Amino acid sequence: MHLELKNYMEELVLQKIDAVMAANRDVCGCGQCRHDIAAMALTILPARYVVTPRGETYTRIKALEQQFAVDIIRALTESIEIVKKHPHHEK
Ligand SMILES: [Zn+2]
Repeated sequence: MHLELKNYMEELVLQKIDAVMAANRDVCGCGQCRHDIAAMALTILPARYVVTPRGETYTRIKALEQQFAVDIIRALTESIEIVKKHPHHEK
């Protein structure tokens, strides 16, 4: 069986980032800013590593999603504010 080491928090941040960015209309939507926001949010949030058979991630993610939903949205919102003020490219 192929086992995989996975940070569920990364999965959850990527699931939520587009909705949170859509709610902040004046944030830049380019790939650079989106990745910077994801990286910053994942630095704020605790990592949640698990060993899992490849592909079988979704039932565990559901439980963690409910536990961390508020923290994830808060971390994404903070990260958006920072990237908005200091994008890694010309405005
Ligand atoms: Zn940008």
